[in-house]
Amino acid sequence: MPNTPNDLATATTATSGSKAITEQKILTGDRATGQLHLGHYIGSLKQRVELQHNNQQTILVADMQGLTDNGNNPSKVADNILNVVADYLAVGIDPAKTTICLQSGIPALAELTMYYSNLVSIARLERNPTVKSEIQGKNFGRSIPAGFLSYPISQAADITAFQAQLVPVGDDQLPMLEQTNEIVRKINSLANSQILRECQPLLSNISRLPSPDGKSKMSKSLGNVITLDASDKAISQAVKAMYTDPNHLTIDQPGQVEGNVVFTYLDAFHPDAEYVAQLKEHYQRGGLGDGKTKQILTDCLQTLIAPIRARRQALIADKGYLIEVLKKGTEQAREESQQTLDKVKTAFGLNLI
Ligand code: ATP
Ligand code: MG
Repeated sequence: MPNTPNDLATATTATSGSKAITEQKILTGDRATGQLHLGHYIGSLKQRVELQHNNQQTILVADMQGLTDNGNNPSKVADNILNVVADYLAVGIDPAKTTICLQSGIPALAELTMYYSNLVSIARLERNPTVKSEIQGKNFGRSIPAGFLSYPISQAADITAFQAQLVPVGDDQLPMLEQTNEIVRKINSLANSQILRECQPLLSNISRLPSPDGKSKMSKSLGNVITLDASDKAISQAVKAMYTDPNHLTIDQPGQVEGNVVFTYLDAFHPDAEYVAQLKEHYQRGGLGDGKTKQILTDCLQTLIAPIRARRQALIADKGYLIEVLKKGTEQAREESQQTLDKVKTAFGLNLI
C-alpha cells in the first residue's frame, strides 16, 4: 500500500507556522463536493498535517453536508468522497495518526443533529452570516432546502460528537463555531453538567484564499479552483489569468501590492518570505513586471503541487485502499460519537431503555 512520503510530510510541517499545540482533540472536515484545492491546503490541510503528530485528530468527509445543496444532484457528492480521501493522504495526512471518517457512516451525527435542532431557532440560522451569503450566492430563491439552512446544526453535531477543542478552519467557518458553542452551553445547562466541550477555531495565516480573479474565495462550488493535482499547464494558465494591479501598465511604473492576487499567493505559498518582501518592495518602486512575478509564482506552485499530484495519482488508482482507510476510521468514529450521543440523550431525559 502506498505510504505517506516522509519528505513531503516534513516539508509541509516545517513551513506550516502554526502554534505548537499538544494533546488536544481536533475535528475538521470538508464537504465531498469536489476535489480539494489550494484554499483547503493553505487554510486547513497544512495545519492538519502538523497537528496530527501530537493530538487526537479526526477528519470528517462531510458527504451528508454536501447533499444540503445537492439534493437533486447527489452523484456530485457520491463521486467525490474518494477524491477527498485521496487529497488528504496525498498532502501527508497519515491514517495511522488521524482518524479519517465518513459522515453518513456515523448515525450518531444525524441523531445529535435532530436533538440540537430543537434548541436553535430559524431566526438564529437565518442570521448566520456565512449561511446568509451562501444562500444569496446559490440562488435558491424561496426554495431553500431545510437541510441547507440548518447545516450549522449538523456541524455542531460533528464537532461535539468528538468533544473537539480545536477546529482548524478557514474564516468562513467562524460563525459555525460560534453557533456550536451556543448549543454546547444550552446542552450543558440542560444536563446541569459540562458534558460537552466548547471549541476554538484554529485559523491559518491565510484564512481565506481568494480565487485567481480576486472576486471571491476559492471554492469548489464556484468552480474557481486550482486543485491539488493541477497540471503544470493548468497552474501556469491560472496564474497568467490572475488579477494584478490594473493600473500597472508598464514595467517601469510603481505597482500596488494590496489586492494584487499574485502577491497574496506569493505570501501564502512561497517558502522564502524575505525574498517575497524584496519582490514587493521592487514592484512598489517600479521596474518589476507582472510577467516576472507571475513566472515566480508559477514556479512556486508547480514545485508545491508536483509531489502532491504524483502521490494523488497513485492513490486514486487504488480505490480499495482508500475505502479501507475510510471504513476503519469510520468504525472508530462511530464508537466515540455514540458515547456523546448517550450523554446528550440523558441530558434530555431520554435514557429509559
Ligand atoms: P463548497 O464550495 O462546496 O462549500 P469549499 O471549497 O468552500 O466547498 P469546504 O469543504 O466548504 O470547501 O471547506 C472545507 C474547509 O476548507 C473549511 O474549513 C473552509 O473554511 C476551508 N476553506 C475552503 N475554502 C477556503 C479558502 N479559499 N481559503 C481558506 N480556507 C478555505
Ligand atoms: Mg464551503
